[in-house]
Amino acid sequence: MRCPYCAHMEDRVLDTRIGREGDSIRRRRECLKCHGRFTTMETLLQVYPLIVKKDGRREPFSKEKVLKGIQAACQKRPVSLAQMEQIVERVAKWVLSRPEREVTSEAVGQKVVKELRLLDDVAYVRFASVYQTFRDVGEFVSHLEGEAGEGDEVSSDELRPVASAGEESPPKAKTKLKPETPE
Ligand SMILES: [Zn+2]
Repeated sequence: MRCPYCAHMEDRVLDTRIGREGDSIRRRRECLKCHGRFTTMETLLQVYPLIVKKDGRREPFSKEKVLKGIQAACQKRPVSLAQMEQIVERVAKWVLSRPEREVTSEAVGQKVVKELRLLDDVAYVRFASVYQTFRDVGEFVSHLEGEAGEGDEVSSDELRPVASAGEESPPKAKTKLKPETPE
């Protein structure tokens, strides 16, 4: 690391500290030439694969977008923000662990559907049915925003559960989704 005082390239490490979350390392260094001291920080580079939308456009993965979609599906359901955020974290982790450099928005949606299914029947059916129409979380969210206006009330017909939870078996999320192979 180049010394910030004299630009010398050699230093020695005086102290190494691991960040509270365990996801960063700080090193206190001393320049071998001028003995100036400085700190460097090491973090893991998280590179999310690009999300391929249905129309072929690519966009960066957005946790915020996924959360919005989940929040819309969970309106008036007994699901806490913390639970929704946990789903987002699991989906993000899943996206990060993909070996491919691009992931289809459909695959992300299917992952959300799976997670919601474990949590809340109604939210699951809402997300699965609306998602089948839009096949893209972004489209889904902008549709909801358009329908909902400024209020937080979402009154779109598509958001109503298509099957009452419990009695009928919920529609299979995958039946209509054609898997797209990423290039
Ligand atoms: Zn120096």
